[in-house]
Amino acid sequence: MEVEALAGPPRGFKSRVVSSRSLTPTTHAIEVEKPKAFTFGPTQFTFLQLQTEEGMDARPMSLATSPTRPHLEYAVRLSDSAYKRAFAALRPDDEVRVFGPIGDFVLHETRPAVLVAGGIGITPLKGMAEYAADKALPIPIRLVYSNRSEDEIVYRDELEALEKQSPRFRVLYTLTRTSAQGWQGTTGRIGRELVQEAALGLDDPIYYISGTPSMVVGTLRLLRGLGVPESDVEIEAFRGYE
Ligand SMILES: Cc1cc2nc3c(=O)[nH]c(=O)nc-3n(C[C@H](O)[C@H](O)[C@H](O)COP(=O)(O)OP(=O)(O)OC[C@H]3O[C@@H](n4cnc5c(N)ncnc54)[C@H](O)[C@@H]3O)c2cc1C
Repeated sequence: MEVEALAGPPRGFKSRVVSSRSLTPTTHAIEVEKPKAFTFGPTQFTFLQLQTEEGMDARPMSLATSPTRPHLEYAVRLSDSAYKRAFAALRPDDEVRVFGPIGDFVLHETRPAVLVAGGIGITPLKGMAEYAADKALPIPIRLVYSNRSEDEIVYRDELEALEKQSPRFRVLYTLTRTSAQGWQGTTGRIGRELVQEAALGLDDPIYYISGTPSMVVGTLRLLRGLGVPESDVEIEAFRGYE
């Protein structure tokens, strides 16, 4: 694919949508062609620029897949903004612009990891788990993943496939609104017990938190209460959400 360089940092290029699909009732994902020259760490973010009804608009968006995979991927929680409407309407072959990669929210390849995600915050963490599985990294990775309801679990099939691909990867789900019947797992917000269960037996893990700013702050407080030093915590706060 031809890469057209755009002026000024961060580096940018035009690309094309490969696929567009709904993930859950309130989330949507696209895959985008990855130029050969584009490299990134698992998992940084880029700005993703789209043509919307109100003109061109860009948002910071975590890359939702590992650099070991053939395409780039993004997933969003839908809203009524012009940007999100344009995102959900994307179809194969539509043009987008990507600026990046940016950030240092990247998996440390030699230390066990506890990933903590709320809702759409799963995006960079899914990329990390894919990377570790594809590279067969010899580190245990546990994902603590909170969602409102079972049908809102983002990338559930992909996460289950990763658990099969890698014996070192395990997901601990919790649901915060469970009038739903049939859910045998944990309920309520991410709490001490769940985080301690995730970290059980891990030698000197790093904690990676990704989600809305309030989810990130709440989890940071929780980890502080458990005596986890801040130097062992990496965060990605999705500014733009409450
Ligand atoms: C590093 C990073 C990674 C992100 N990754 C994802 C992702 O993978 N998936 C995802 O769905 N979202 C992600 N976000 C959030 C995303 O950029 C949008 O802000 C969010 O999706 C809300 O968009 P909206 O169009 O629904 O909100 P809008 O209705 O457009 O905005 C809601 C309010 O937030 C303000 N706002 C919007 N964006 C920002 C911003 N970036 N910074 C400060 N204020 C803002 C608006 O002015 C408005 O007041 C990420 C954010 C960051 C910083």
